[in-house]
Amino acid sequence: MTTIRTRFAPSPTGFMHVGGVRTALFAWLIAQQSNGTFLLRIEDTDKVREVEGSIQQIEQSLRWLGIDWKEGIDVGGEHGPYLQSERLNIYRQWAQKLVDQGRAYADPYTKEELEVFRENAKASKQPFLYRNHRPEQPPVWDGTQSLRFKSDPKAYKWQDAVMGELSTGPEAIDDFVLMKSDGYPTYNFCHIIDDMLMGITHVLRSQEFISSTPKFLNLYDALEITPPVLATLPYVMAIDGKKKLGKRDGAKDILDYGKEGYLPEAMMNFLATLGWNDGTEQEVFTTTELIEKFSLDRVQKSPARFDEQRLLWLNGQHIRLLSLDALYERVVDFWPESASTSTKEHKIAVLSLVQDRLKTLADLSVASSYFFETPTPNWSMADDNKQLRKLDQEERKNLLSQALTALEQSDFDASSVQDTLNQLLETTGQKPGILFSLVRLAVSWAPFSPALHDTIATLGKDETVTRISAAIETA
Ligand code: GLU
Repeated sequence: MTTIRTRFAPSPTGFMHVGGVRTALFAWLIAQQSNGTFLLRIEDTDKVREVEGSIQQIEQSLRWLGIDWKEGIDVGGEHGPYLQSERLNIYRQWAQKLVDQGRAYADPYTKEELEVFRENAKASKQPFLYRNHRPEQPPVWDGTQSLRFKSDPKAYKWQDAVMGELSTGPEAIDDFVLMKSDGYPTYNFCHIIDDMLMGITHVLRSQEFISSTPKFLNLYDALEITPPVLATLPYVMAIDGKKKLGKRDGAKDILDYGKEGYLPEAMMNFLATLGWNDGTEQEVFTTTELIEKFSLDRVQKSPARFDEQRLLWLNGQHIRLLSLDALYERVVDFWPESASTSTKEHKIAVLSLVQDRLKTLADLSVASSYFFETPTPNWSMADDNKQLRKLDQEERKNLLSQALTALEQSDFDASSVQDTLNQLLETTGQKPGILFSLVRLAVSWAPFSPALHDTIATLGKDETVTRISAAIETA
């Protein structure tokens, strides 16, 4: 069995969004599961479209997600360099080889001449094919003209690992540009040379390249290279399923999700299940499970939909999977400012109470602030509450005073507090919906809090007494 070698080959033309990273992830997963190699190559041959800083951003995005590469840019390897602009000599040599074999020729036409050919084809309602205008005596190629492939038009039938059997007629094949006049190769040419020299066994890429595949196959033939396994990944669409995911529909920098409190493993789970499932109802997958279960033949042929609500849900699920210590490590940047003087022990206790409520790590600040700072009583919240609205001022004060007295005498572990609260129900004859809501409000002034006895025990006796007293005063 040959070892799988895959690559991610982004162009440094801007930040990494969901669609791009998903391609990288799928390629990484199939390499990981076979103990193969996933490498990172940067395709920077289109200098006009290049955006400064993108390479670093691509690397950071992959690292954040946990997609590592043991070969490629930054880390090196025996097939380097992995930056295409440092491989120009290699492409030139292969281009020359094709010239020598009579399979490539210098393009003698000016832009204007080409335009005329195009116009004529349009006027006679024919598709424009460059190969219909092959020059009889092309000039000698000196590297300053663009170089075209002399194609061998024919029908192709091939197997795509995701799309299944595909076929095209000879009209799909034309004399495409291999080398541009600026000395840089085209993507169409150099990715084939690189994939071959780098021993790539599986090429995973987005649907936008599918129409070029017959051209690639024709070039593989000319170079006498056996093509790698080709796997085309359908587009990621906006939630309405009608258009390709764009910036407006949430195609943002993957690193922004980290800043917003998403876990990389949740993002990985989300990306992996954009157009893939394992054939069961399972939705939450750990990275280890993904490596074990992922397979190209279960990737959907139809476009996937980007559903940010699903990402949010998955994130909450992955937050729950974390141990308290692991969660503590992850939330360093997400505590409310008032937590800065708190002990680790207290913070862990708070985390144990709010963990299940967090959808993103960024929710922590609001969900936990009242554990670290004494909130100001806000009785309008009682008026907004259907149950509490029924109590008049006297009743509020009275109930809270009874609670205060009982709690002052209570031990302050969670179960003693719970006992105290239960006894209080009996002595006051109140419903939990009223009594507990009132006490909850008095100690937290938050719309939600974890179980009341846990909340009170974590706040501690002094703080609880202070808060209930302040509530009584202002009621
Ligand atoms: N450089 C191409 C891109 O960023 C890579 C396509 C491929 O994976 O072959 O879209």
